[in-house]
Amino acid sequence: GRTPFIAGNWKMNLDHQQAIAFVQKLHWSLKEAKHVEGSVEVGIFPPFTDLRTVQTLLDADKISFALGAQDLSTKDSGAYTGEVSGAFLAKLNCGYVIVGHSERREYHDETDEVVAAKAQAALRHGLVPVICVGETSEDLEKFGASAVPVGQLEVALEGLPSEADIVVAYEPVWAIGSGQAATPEQAQEVCAKLRDVIAAKLGPDAAQRTRVLYGGSVKSTNIASFMREPDIDGALVGGASLVVGEFAAIVRYQK
Ligand code: 13P
Repeated sequence: GRTPFIAGNWKMNLDHQQAIAFVQKLHWSLKEAKHVEGSVEVGIFPPFTDLRTVQTLLDADKISFALGAQDLSTKDSGAYTGEVSGAFLAKLNCGYVIVGHSERREYHDETDEVVAAKAQAALRHGLVPVICVGETSEDLEKFGASAVPVGQLEVALEGLPSEADIVVAYEPVWAIGSGQAATPEQAQEVCAKLRDVIAAKLGPDAAQRTRVLYGGSVKSTNIASFMREPDIDGALVGGASLVVGEFAAIVRYQK
């Protein structure tokens, strides 16, 4: 079976000092609730400037959260002012890196090809890319829910080896930060099609083993309904990942 993955994408929130307090509180909150470590993988994706601090804290306090960055460069090193290499993230014990988040696609003009190059850069450094795909409300009206995310994922997976360790996140753009989550049935339908893309591009083993997450207005009140769906293996949580009690309740959706 696939271990459920509950990932908090902090976006541009919580500086490194706030991050310390947050991670400690989250750890204690889960401990107090007797959350069984390992039953669910908990991941946090802070801003770059927090990563070193958070890594040190996780290490010192033996906290088993997975750590990831929100983006990386397509390049490994060199004269690329402002960019951050996957090599640096790997050195900070990041296990994951988000690529192709809709906010990067929208505000930084990331194309499907750039997203594919970032996924490859992540894999070169032993990082698991969390490849985000999803349709806008205009796409939804014109093409239905699955055509755009399926096309985005096809490009992102082009040329990856069958053993590539990846995570896919289906995040309908209209559901992000809107309070209007997809229904579990809609999300399941698209996630199943994304799993078919993984099977077609990387083979049936990869499709079986790869976790497909849903993201977009996930809260403690709707998480269980998503997790009941067979092709949804976790959630990529934005706003609700910034509130300790709420994120802890999402992690403990099985309680
Ligand atoms: P919200 O949970 O705030 O809708 O954000 C989802 C998201 O974009 C996670 O990457």
